[in-house]
Amino acid sequence: MSDNQNIDTTTNINETDTNKTSTDHSDDYEKICYVCRRPESKAGEMITMPGGMNFCHECMQKAFDSISKSGMDFSKLQNMPFMNMNLNDFAGMQMPNTEIPEKNKIKKKSKAKDAEKFLTMKDVPAPHQIKAQLDAYVIGQERAKRAVSVAVYNHYKRVILRQQDELRANENTEEKAENAAAQGMQMQGGEPEIEKSNILMLGPTGSGKTYLVKTLAKLLDVPLAIADATALTEAGYIGDDIESVVSKLLAAAGNDVEKAEQGIIFIDEIDKIAKKKNTMSRDVSGESVQQELLKLLEGSQVEVPVGSNQKNALTPMATVDTNNILFICGGAFPGLDDIIKERLKKRSTMGFNSHLKDEFDNDPDILSQVTTEDLRNFGMIPEFLGRLPVLVSLQGLTKELLMRILKEPKNAILKQYERLLALDEVKLVFEDDALEWIAERALEKDTGARALRAILEDFMMDIMYEIPKDPNIGSVVITRPYLEKKGGPRIEMRG
Ligand code: ADP
Repeated sequence: MSDNQNIDTTTNINETDTNKTSTDHSDDYEKICYVCRRPESKAGEMITMPGGMNFCHECMQKAFDSISKSGMDFSKLQNMPFMNMNLNDFAGMQMPNTEIPEKNKIKKKSKAKDAEKFLTMKDVPAPHQIKAQLDAYVIGQERAKRAVSVAVYNHYKRVILRQQDELRANENTEEKAENAAAQGMQMQGGEPEIEKSNILMLGPTGSGKTYLVKTLAKLLDVPLAIADATALTEAGYIGDDIESVVSKLLAAAGNDVEKAEQGIIFIDEIDKIAKKKNTMSRDVSGESVQQELLKLLEGSQVEVPVGSNQKNALTPMATVDTNNILFICGGAFPGLDDIIKERLKKRSTMGFNSHLKDEFDNDPDILSQVTTEDLRNFGMIPEFLGRLPVLVSLQGLTKELLMRILKEPKNAILKQYERLLALDEVKLVFEDDALEWIAERALEKDTGARALRAILEDFMMDIMYEIPKDPNIGSVVITRPYLEKKGGPRIEMRG
């Protein structure tokens, strides 16, 4: 997989955030109590000591309480502005290193009513615009791209509505409460709440699931965390806690909680946490992980360690609301095709079109017929599926699609090699039947588009070694016979 692809972002979901430049960075981050490690948003105002050490009032009080219990009389000491102590006396003292590492710092939240920070419909591109931008990178998978574009559009609409509701609630709470009390009524919101449109993405390895999500996050300019479900275990067992996925997102957002709260979390290999069949031991990485993911998926406040995936006394904690985070779960679901076929066959033997039974066996797009019933049979629990209402399936890539993937995306592999050789002032050309040969080899590997780069690298290494030897070479044509090792590439000299 190549992660170093550049995508130019033409749409900014969060312009206010990205354009914000500040010179005084100390003000952007929260102070963190040196003792309890809580940030000031939780522990309240901090007392800053010389040397930059911060204490919350509670810890400060506890410290003084324990000292005074031991019999020290503060009133005997002089010049103490806070609890009678002159903090300047510490100025010359050697203080422990209190500098909080960059990765542990928490960005301050902006004021709740700062309407400028809120998303508006202007910030959210329409589904056809999202799809058009995805088209420039992701080849084929038309249905998936459409479904994802709509789901994302609805997701950010929901974020906007929630922000508006919150804003209104803040403004009216007091007024409403008074009115309601006067009329003996219970307070309630009149508008229907939009449900989350988390996505479950099915598709064979290398068909572009991760790539689609990565492209999406870059186009929308929102932070993205990619986690692997196989690493997750029930809390208390060896492996990553469920909350670690939120920690990752927070890190991707530069420890800016508000930014993280509008981000995307992609959990790959979700099929690996299917309920295990016939196990005697406790299933700490399957069904129970699904159970623990439920609250994250539907939206809850989670306490996560900042800058680490482990909770311990020294890591500051931040609270992240997952309500507006878009969750996308992806997996290859091996064997699911058989479950689908089985169901379809059963149905067709009951009707008069039973002769169609075999047609399912050769349908390359069988995953598109998936239902939640099939996924339940696979081992996903109903509550989990209920929180991923958008089902998207990607097709296995065909030879034609693989050939297009070689040359069409904005950052296509061929374009990358062409660019490299252009620096030697050599034109690189691939004949169509050479591309076909490459796609055929990739199909044999059964790892989707992932195989393409390795196959190309294999012979392009020789080309890139040999060509710069002769400055008279003007162009290199990669032919099928060359790839089949029946000859060399076609070299043309400068005219
Ligand atoms: P998976 O479905 O297993 O998550 P990936 O998205 O990681 O597969 O695909 C691996 C690589 O193959 C990507 O980084 C991308 O370069 C390429 N690729 C896969 N599918 C496509 C596609 N439909 N269009 C363009 N490139 C693709």
